[in-house]
Amino acid sequence: MQFPLFKTKIKEKGDETRVSSSRFTSLRSARVFDLNNPREREKYFNFKAGREIKKLRDYFRGGNTFVAYLLGKKNSGKGTYSKMFSEIIDPERIDHFSIGDMIREVDKELKDKKRKKELVEFLEKNYRGWSSVKELISLLEKRSTKTLLPTELILALVKREIGKRKKKTIFIDGFPRDLDQINFALFFRDLIGYRDDPDFFVLINVPESIIDERIKYRVVCPVCQTSRNLKLLPTSKVGYDAKKKEFYLLCDNPKCREIKMVRKEGDGAGIKPIKERLKKDEKLINQALSLYGIPKVLLRNSVPKKLASSFVDDYEITPEYYYQWDEGKKKIVVKERPWVVSDDRGRPSYSLLPPPVVVSLIKQITDVLDL
Ligand SMILES: [Zn+2]
Repeated sequence: MQFPLFKTKIKEKGDETRVSSSRFTSLRSARVFDLNNPREREKYFNFKAGREIKKLRDYFRGGNTFVAYLLGKKNSGKGTYSKMFSEIIDPERIDHFSIGDMIREVDKELKDKKRKKELVEFLEKNYRGWSSVKELISLLEKRSTKTLLPTELILALVKREIGKRKKKTIFIDGFPRDLDQINFALFFRDLIGYRDDPDFFVLINVPESIIDERIKYRVVCPVCQTSRNLKLLPTSKVGYDAKKKEFYLLCDNPKCREIKMVRKEGDGAGIKPIKERLKKDEKLINQALSLYGIPKVLLRNSVPKKLASSFVDDYEITPEYYYQWDEGKKKIVVKERPWVVSDDRGRPSYSLLPPPVVVSLIKQITDVLDL
């Protein structure tokens, strides 16, 4: 299935009158926002979705909640979108947790006697499945990264997390990946409606070429571990290796004294090592799409180049940074242009910055909740 394009471009006052009256030309100066700047970003959200933001804030202040199940491929930005949503709407009342973090937390619990006992008691009361609790605990303690945990165990643990956040809205990120269609339906049948508030899927569509380049150009500071991207998210300081004819980023955290940021081993291969994983993720998204009885919010991160001008504003498009060495001035020149990628159907496309995707999220959630 195709994810529909979402229009974030707003017609400015005066657009209609542009031809008939020149008095309005001043009104037409389209507003431009710098989406990297937090203050500007706030103004942007109010400009593009002010009404919906207010409705959602009122909804939460009235004590209402929801549960959203986030599904998207690895590195598709799930965390970024839901965290930005929470920041804008109501950070106090909106929570986010990932299944991966949840399992890592369980590992810590098992190392603490008292917490381990509590976990065992919880499972004895709440787990329904094919292994005994004893077997589960031993599976958890001895498992390697390759071990698959039983779906029923993950289900019980997810319910526990939901229970911990009774009065909060929750975004749940990530699901068991090895589910066939029947188990997938059963898993969600058990989870959907577990709490009395509305719940829905948030499905994210990102072309694999975008994920590929995000990985390939990713660099990290060896001291503070800050992650950046040579092509998509540079620091304020760039270096040049004249021998190798290579540009690199310098960490701009003052504590790190301009140390050179480095690529992690294996990142140069892009999505190659995670191809299988991406395939599984895609299967899961398609299963979610075909599941009836639950509303779906469909987010897409790209827009075909040909259609871009009628759907988005220029400043909503992800720029690509590139560098040139000025031999005369002995200086690096940083340049910027719209980043063009092939979508999964091979069409030249632009990638969207997170804020316009979040505008689409805000508006679609408002619709799903019927606000
Ligand atoms: Zn650093």
